Amino acid sequence: MTDRTKKLGEYDRNFVWHPFTQMKDYEKEEPIVIEEGDGVYLVDSEGRRYIDGVSSLWVNIHGHKVPEIDEAIKDQVEKLSHSTLLGVTNPPAAELAKELIEICPKGLRKVFYSGDGASAVEVALKMALQYWQHKGKPNKTKFVSLEYGYHGDTLGAVSVGGIDLFHSAFKPLLFETYKAPSYYCYRCALGKTYPSCEVACGDETGKILKEHHEEISAVIFEPYVQAAGGMIVSPPGYLKKVRQYCDEYDVLMILDEVATGFGRTGKMFACEHEGVTPDIMVLGKGMTGGYLPLSATITTQEVYDAFLGEYDEFKTFFHGHSYSGNPLSCAAALGNLEVFKKHNTLKKLQEKIELLEEELKEFKGLKHVGDVRNKGLMVGIELVEDKETKKPYPIKMKMGWRVADFAREEEVLIRPLGNVVVLMPPIGISIEDLKKLLSVTYRAIKKATEES
Ligand SMILES: *Cc1c(COP(=O)(O)O)cnc(C)c1O
Repeated sequence: MTDRTKKLGEYDRNFVWHPFTQMKDYEKEEPIVIEEGDGVYLVDSEGRRYIDGVSSLWVNIHGHKVPEIDEAIKDQVEKLSHSTLLGVTNPPAAELAKELIEICPKGLRKVFYSGDGASAVEVALKMALQYWQHKGKPNKTKFVSLEYGYHGDTLGAVSVGGIDLFHSAFKPLLFETYKAPSYYCYRCALGKTYPSCEVACGDETGKILKEHHEEISAVIFEPYVQAAGGMIVSPPGYLKKVRQYCDEYDVLMILDEVATGFGRTGKMFACEHEGVTPDIMVLGKGMTGGYLPLSATITTQEVYDAFLGEYDEFKTFFHGHSYSGNPLSCAAALGNLEVFKKHNTLKKLQEKIELLEEELKEFKGLKHVGDVRNKGLMVGIELVEDKETKKPYPIKMKMGWRVADFAREEEVLIRPLGNVVVLMPPIGISIEDLKKLLSVTYRAIKKATEES
């Protein structure tokens, strides 16, 4: 290890508290200092080149050091790095909003900017609540969310979350929500099997709405993939079904596309797979191609119009952030969209998805792989101690991490979710690198589960 790496590791150990990290374990490890990005590779301070197998935690889209995005930021920094969006605007914020509306599902019209996914979710919840006040239905204050859902770590977002491990400690601070079952086919809460179930999980949401719609403001969930919940993939038809129930019972539909947006599932947005338009859509993560923090809560003319009124009626949406609509972030996001257009990213992606799905079939044969699921390039491989009974590995074995550690030895960086091995490479990954990522992961799973 170079002296420089040692020194940085020391600073890090002494002064940095890492997110979602048990620091007791971390303090014992050799630090990996990521110094440079190069396409889908991350280069550490020792010169090792890793495949960025989870897109730097699901944000990176086309790879690192993408010329178009680099240039967009450089150009913008020469002009203006920040000015507020409270009552004034800036060119990238205005241009980006226009471009987003052009690519968003039809019916979405207004872009409200924030800085990260969790904030944009808070905005969606507050917007939905206040919308109903302006519509003369102040009793519609409750939300329906899903088991295994994840919407970020601020308190409103945690309230609509469904991952006990992350969320239970904060219970005293959370508001109550109606929890509908997840669309988790492998461990179906209703004990049914697709397709004979006819997507009954969606009807459970319908039942809640039927009974309580007078006090329900909105249903919120992640379309097609519950990402942090374990890369849980919904059966087709779920989205459409819930949309119909929302219409039937006059409840808003909030789709959190923070993880699924920007091509991750094979289309620009996951809701396009079923031609569904939400009333409120939340974007984040990949919005800037993985360069800078930026998120958006995008809504319909109908929702927007409800907030219009005379100044002293106070229908204003009293919410904002210091860096709302930051010009550098918006410029990066424009660069990101430019790459999609210029390089036909979505079209090229289809071939990669086909290859991925073909190769994933192999994984199903492994002794301890219980379920393999994907939508586009979002992949979850669920490891089980016993395939027959679907018995999970005890948490203590850290099986997901054992796989990740073996992969790391072969210069692939991945981060599991419990017993689920997650792959989510930048969609700009080459076929060759995708194959490497898959073969390293396959070997790592085999080693971790069968040879120790
Ligand atoms: C990551 C994530 C969030 C939170 O975004 P942050 O930028 O980390 O606050 C919200 N929703 C979903 C679906 C996510 O995957």
